[in-house]
Amino acid sequence: MIDPMFFSFSYKRDGGKKKKMPKSLLNMPRKLSHFINNQWTPFQGESIDIQSPLNGQVIGTISKSSTFDIQSAIHAAEKANQEWKKTPIKERSRIFFNLRNILLEKKELISQCIHIESGKTLDEAKAGLLKGIEVIEFALSLQNIDLGGKKEVSRGVFCEYRREPLGITAGITPFNFPAMVPLWMIPIALVTGNAFIWKPSEKTPLTSYFIAESFKEAGLPAGLFNVLQGDAQTAKDLVNHPQIAALGFVGSTPVAQSIYKEGAATGKRILAMGGAKNHIFLLPDAPPEFTAQAIVDSFTGCAGQRCMAASVLLAIGETQKMIDSILKVASQKQAGKNLGAIISKESLDRLHKAIETASEHGAQIILDGRNPSVDSQFQGGFWLNPTILDHVSPQSEAAQKELFGPVLSIIRCKDIEEALEIENKNPFGNAASVFTQKGALAEFVAQNANAGMIGINIGVPVPREPFSFGGFYASRFGQGDITGMDGVRFWTQTKKITSKWGSQSPINWMS
Ligand code: NAD
Repeated sequence: MIDPMFFSFSYKRDGGKKKKMPKSLLNMPRKLSHFINNQWTPFQGESIDIQSPLNGQVIGTISKSSTFDIQSAIHAAEKANQEWKKTPIKERSRIFFNLRNILLEKKELISQCIHIESGKTLDEAKAGLLKGIEVIEFALSLQNIDLGGKKEVSRGVFCEYRREPLGITAGITPFNFPAMVPLWMIPIALVTGNAFIWKPSEKTPLTSYFIAESFKEAGLPAGLFNVLQGDAQTAKDLVNHPQIAALGFVGSTPVAQSIYKEGAATGKRILAMGGAKNHIFLLPDAPPEFTAQAIVDSFTGCAGQRCMAASVLLAIGETQKMIDSILKVASQKQAGKNLGAIISKESLDRLHKAIETASEHGAQIILDGRNPSVDSQFQGGFWLNPTILDHVSPQSEAAQKELFGPVLSIIRCKDIEEALEIENKNPFGNAASVFTQKGALAEFVAQNANAGMIGINIGVPVPREPFSFGGFYASRFGQGDITGMDGVRFWTQTKKITSKWGSQSPINWMS
């Protein structure tokens, strides 16, 4: 079990501003097992080491869940759900008020943990956590809206529908948002009356400690929320488990697609969000005061490791001046200062290879971020400064595949139609943005781009709740979005009740 004392540190301030990472937090090995029935199980069996991308050191170990652990979590969830599903939503919601406040109180601590295990900057870690808390606030608001309805459909005959929970639900999450992505699912599934089993990414599992402890502190009855540590095998065991009624997945496209197929074959409800290749349409009249900054923030934020990151810049017509500004702004991003790390050596090597291949295929490397110099505390970490590839061919890997790093591929286009054709042909469909001052052009792109989330002069068009989050095509397998009212629909089923009480009601075909 992880020792909470390892995280109870106080950080120093340099000149009242800069926060220093406590060495003890970076170097201390921690052991984390499964959270079942509001308790951490003993650490045993096979294990997986966790490396901090900031300096490459092992910062903890998780135990891989066994068949016994999975079955224990299922039993706990099944038992707890019997009472919970009958608990009125207003009563359930009280716990989530507490949870929201506890997470806000622990914001600094949790963000430090996210920063250390995922390598993103502290500010990015906080922003992700706050976005997750926003979904808790959305889930809380469900108690104040109609989730059902009743109408007289024939004289004396009433039809009613009710939203009912599904039972035991589960979520499998990626490394890049250790708190936000799980919070897209967990609060909505629990508030609507289900029990939940979460498998965090084996690359960033430590944050699950704080989330589970916060639920316990908030007063969630034991067994309703369980955490199983593990890798692909644990994920597959959950996907195939016959007692899990619905499963949410967020991760890469090949895994999302296989989980969707496998899970659906077991009769489960599956929503699997996949990877992305997001395009930015840059028009010659893009607002000069913020466009370059917004584009750079989009492709370098979270070191480019987010499904909403800009990846391809479609430079339409005369845009050289703006490209020069983008280059200048991107050069100011520095690994370990205002730019986070790459999750693993394997991912960093993959990015180096992709940059080399792009260059071999004719792209010009106009900003080369490979092998940046970093502070001594970050030696051994996995770092890449912003990299910009110009004159990328639309057919090349740099234009087609998700690279998942701070790399921007520029494709020069003669007009908006050519740019749209390139975007439309890409198999992904998460996000697309357009930068222009002309409303009609922006509307044209919004209507014709093949993406679930569109930005107009916004580089990272994440909808805020209650507007739901989700892409199209190879970025999403299953129905609907993962948050907002689509989330409510996913974690519930509607029961329809038709009734007649008055004996004076006429006899008709509905009798
Ligand atoms: P990943 O697919 O490697 O892993 C995600 C989860 O799936 C992890 O918990 C992992 O243990 C599990 N897993 C891995 N291989 C598996 C397999 N063969 N079978 C079953 N489970 C398996 O993804 P990642 O590298 O952790 O995260 C990055 C990816 O997630 C990127 O592609 C990114 O675009 C995507 N992502 C998408 C969204 C979205 O909303 N569309 C949001 C965040 C991240």
